[in-house]
Amino acid sequence: VNADVTPLIPVVDDPDTGGFFEAARRHELAVCFCASCDAALHLPRAYCHRCGAWGNAWRAVAVTGTLHSFTIVEHQVHPAFPVPYTIVLVDIDGLADVRLIGDLPGRPLLEIGMAMRVRFDDVADGVVLPRWEPAAPVASA
Ligand SMILES: [Zn+2]
Repeated sequence: VNADVTPLIPVVDDPDTGGFFEAARRHELAVCFCASCDAALHLPRAYCHRCGAWGNAWRAVAVTGTLHSFTIVEHQVHPAFPVPYTIVLVDIDGLADVRLIGDLPGRPLLEIGMAMRVRFDDVADGVVLPRWEPAAPVASA
């Protein structure tokens, strides 16, 4: 991270996504579920695509997963995100079809299907970001 650049801080009190960041402050990873039929509502929304009910609840899920896909970014698009960095797409353990995106610095040598885990990063006062990283150390290219 470049110390001269102000980091981008997410909005953490949005009504649709605030539950994610509220859980992160407790060092929990949370996903939004339908309060009626328990379908995962991801991306989070107030209306259930499966049963048509309104109403949801955030619930802590596993802080482990498997790497679904990744790509290395070489073209810088914002000063707060120096290249190279790697975008990861992770399947959360125990939840079919719920994937979260993360980023890792540099070009770590990743493999599809490898075990991943969440690390909780304090990025600003009251703002904690769950970040995915390999469960075991990996080399960098
Ligand atoms: Zn439902």
